[in-house]
Amino acid sequence: MKIVILGTGFAAFRFIKKINKRIYDIVVVSPRNHFLFTPLLPSTTVGTLEFRSIIEPIRNTENITFHQSSCTSVNSENNSIECKDADTGKVYTLGYDYLVIAVGEVTNTFGISGIYENALFLKELSDARKIRTKVIDCFENASLPGISPEEKKDFLRFAVCGGGPTGVEFAAELNDFIEEDVKRKYHDLAAYVEIILIEARGSILATFDKKLSEYAMKIFKRQNIILKTNSLVTEVTDKTIMLNDGTMFNYGLLVWATGNTSTDFVRNSGFAADKRKKIITDDFFYVKNGETFYNNIFAIGDCAAIEGKELPATAQVAQQTGLFLAKFFNKRLLKERPFHFKNLGMLAYIGNRKALADTPQYKGTGFGTFVFWRSAYLTKLVSFKNKALVLFDWIKTFISGRDVSNF
Ligand SMILES: Cc1cc2nc3c(=O)[nH]c(=O)nc-3n(C[C@H](O)[C@H](O)[C@H](O)COP(=O)(O)OP(=O)(O)OC[C@H]3O[C@@H](n4cnc5c(N)ncnc54)[C@H](O)[C@@H]3O)c2cc1C
Repeated sequence: MKIVILGTGFAAFRFIKKINKRIYDIVVVSPRNHFLFTPLLPSTTVGTLEFRSIIEPIRNTENITFHQSSCTSVNSENNSIECKDADTGKVYTLGYDYLVIAVGEVTNTFGISGIYENALFLKELSDARKIRTKVIDCFENASLPGISPEEKKDFLRFAVCGGGPTGVEFAAELNDFIEEDVKRKYHDLAAYVEIILIEARGSILATFDKKLSEYAMKIFKRQNIILKTNSLVTEVTDKTIMLNDGTMFNYGLLVWATGNTSTDFVRNSGFAADKRKKIITDDFFYVKNGETFYNNIFAIGDCAAIEGKELPATAQVAQQTGLFLAKFFNKRLLKERPFHFKNLGMLAYIGNRKALADTPQYKGTGFGTFVFWRSAYLTKLVSFKNKALVLFDWIKTFISGRDVSNF
């Protein structure tokens, strides 16, 4: 029996690792030929960690077939998908006995003018690489002779839109970079730097316990991160950001991290979708088909939603759904217990060696929680190579600072 899996993210990777490859032929289709450990992605944007330390090549997994392509459509009548390779433009068809859709989501720009053209996202490793290059470019540009103090300020005004974990962790990493490296490597520029975090709600990290969210805001204010809560970006040009209260300011870098929406593939698939545009499934992840469910198409991770339930779009949920589905297949689709999400809580890094933990057993802040945060992610990295590289990067950064080479 052949299972075709779309994606190499948290849900798909967990599924691929757990599925019994003696029972099933596994074919993986994804435009990304590696698994990416997103919780540590913000750390790569300023060089706390190196890019390759948090990825795992999918081809390291034995007994699978991999095609580096995107699936463009599903033909459920004849059990086949159409795929396209972005590099060569090659289009081809693949047959399946079972299809598992785990394509994740993309960053939501809410249709705001100028975002796609001018902002950088933080979803893939290529995004982090662009941010890192841009941050260093901003400092190098501001260092050129004949640049006025006003121009320096404009180059070094870093705006982050979105006060969820991604935006907060990026702002925190950037602030660490400024405190620990800029003051040494671009010492005459530190006074010109400004980090502005823009959030539509009244507080940042709104999914965390209120006290933890307030603590994060207090720490950010102490770190000189300017918080603009209850603020909406209405328009962005190549140089300016406009807010809903009429404020306009120039920026050197804008990172957009305001939540997700469905991929074009999901939107165009014709599968039943909920109000968040996620593919509707039952609680064994069979995809909805009219009043019933397909018997050989499944959807897991961020792109899917169990009918009537609203689970958060997190790696934790994605991994648990991937694991559940693999075990379900290994039991030859014998329906025993339906999926039940086990909430392990949330962690976030807020800079200056401080973190937040909001877990069922432990709510904490500060340096101790930072050590817990690092230990938790070190153990969750998916290979020994990743663990060793991340540990090495942390030690290297602590001893010799971040590498500001631009290449
Ligand atoms: C910066 C950042 C930090 C985060 N931190 C945390 C955290 O600390 N804790 C936490 O729980 N969650 C965190 N998340 C959220 C977490 O990364 C996601 O919830 C999780 O990745 C979802 O897993 P997924 O498998 O559904 O999708 P993804 O991991 O996004 O994977 C989707 C896969 O599908 C592929 N794909 C896309 N379109 C197609 C197509 N048409 N055909 C085939 N393949 C396709 C993609 O290339 C990718 O391989 C973070 C996210 C980001 C961006």
